Amino acid sequence: MDNDIKIQFLGGANEVGNAAMVLEMDGLKLLFEYGLSPGKPPRFPMPSPPVDRVMITHAHLDHSGMIPWLCAQGTQTIFATEITSKVSNLLHKDTLKISKMDGYAIPFDSNDVKEAQHSFIRVDPNKKKDLGENAEVCFHSAGHIPGSIMYQVKGSRTVLFTGDINVIDTKLVKAAKPASCDILCMEATYAGREHPKRSELEKRFLDRIDEVVGRGGVVVIPAFAVSRSQEIILVLKNAGYNVWFDGMGRKVSKLFLKHPEYLKSPDDLRKAMNAINLVHSDHGRKLALKSEVILTSSGMMDGGPVLWYMNHLKDDPKSAVFLTGYQVPGSNSKLLMEKGKLDFYGVQQKVECEVDYFDFSAHAGHNELIEFAKACKPKKIVLFHSDNRTPLLEPLRQFAEVYTPTNGETFSI
Ligand SMILES: [Zn+2]
Ligand SMILES: [Zn+2]
Repeated sequence: MDNDIKIQFLGGANEVGNAAMVLEMDGLKLLFEYGLSPGKPPRFPMPSPPVDRVMITHAHLDHSGMIPWLCAQGTQTIFATEITSKVSNLLHKDTLKISKMDGYAIPFDSNDVKEAQHSFIRVDPNKKKDLGENAEVCFHSAGHIPGSIMYQVKGSRTVLFTGDINVIDTKLVKAAKPASCDILCMEATYAGREHPKRSELEKRFLDRIDEVVGRGGVVVIPAFAVSRSQEIILVLKNAGYNVWFDGMGRKVSKLFLKHPEYLKSPDDLRKAMNAINLVHSDHGRKLALKSEVILTSSGMMDGGPVLWYMNHLKDDPKSAVFLTGYQVPGSNSKLLMEKGKLDFYGVQQKVECEVDYFDFSAHAGHNELIEFAKACKPKKIVLFHSDNRTPLLEPLRQFAEVYTPTNGETFSI
C-alpha cells in the first residue's frame, strides 16, 4: 500500500480524557498528547512505546498530564508552546499534591516533573519545524486556550491533529482557522450539541448576577484555573461588581500576562485583573464572603477553595452557584446540579443556594465542527475526544471517509 499510515489511540478516543495518539508515517513514530483524567481515582492512557517526537497541543491535564511519566521513560523531545510548558508544569505539581491528599498513586514523582520541564522544545504558532525523513510539522493556533495549537504534519501525506479546538473568538483567545490536510484527526467533544450564542450567554450571565446581588446574595463561580477563570474575569470586566479571585487561577493569570503573545488582548486582561481582588489570606477569604462575586477553583468543585466558601454559604438561599463548565459524571458539581448536594470531604450536605449553569465551553459545537472539517478539505477524518461521535458520522460522510477508533485499536489509513 502506498505510504501506509498507522494510527493507534492509547487513550481519549471514545472518551473525553487521558488523550494519547500514536501516528506512524514515513518511518516516523509520533505521539500526540499524553494526558491523564483527574478524578477519584485518576485514569491514565496505555503505556506509550518509544517515539521520535511528542507533540502536546495544550496544557489541560487530559492532554498533558502524563508528560512526566514519558520523561521518566527517557523521552527528551516534547513539542509545546512556551505557555503550555509552563502551565502544564504548574498542573503537574498540583496533580502530585492532590494525589497525596486523595491517597491515589500517580506513576511519576517530583523529580520526573522537574525533568519534564527541561524536556520541552518550544514551538510557536505560524512556524514550522523539520522532522527529518522528508517531513515537517507546522503549528497553527487552536483557539481553545492561550497557547493551544494544532499540528499539521506534512510528509508523503498531510495529517492535521487538532487537539481541542474553538472556532469562535472568545474574550481571551482568537478562533482557530482551518488548515488543509489529507487526514484530519479532529476532537468531537460536542458532537450532536450546539452552544448558545456567546453574546446572549454573557448577557444572561450578567443579568443573573444582578438578580442575586440585588437580593443580597453572593455569587460563587467555580471555574477551571486554566483559561475559564480568565475568560470569566474578562466577561465581568466593566460590570462593576466587587469580585474576589481565589485558587490556582491566580498563578495561571500571572503566567498568561507574562506571555501576552498568546492572548487576544493582553491589555484587557491586565485591566480586568487590576479591577478585581485577589485572595491572599484567611482574612481575604472572610472579606470575599461579604462581597458580591467569588471566582475560584476547582471548576468541578472536587477540591480547592470553592469548598471552603460553599461550607460558609451553603445554607443561604439568597446566594447562588453559577457553574461555567462541563460537569463530569461523578464530580461534585454534577452532584450539586442533579441533587442539590455537595460532598464536603466525604460528607454529603444539602445546599440551599440557587444553582445555574452557563455554557462557556471552549470547544467547537456540532455545526462548527462540520464547517471546520469541510474547510480543511480532508479525504479521511478520524474522530476522537468524545463519548458519542455518532451524530457527526452522517454529515461528515458527505465529503470524507470517517473513522471512529476505540482505545487500543491500531488501524491503517
Ligand atoms: Zn482542553
Ligand atoms: Zn481535552
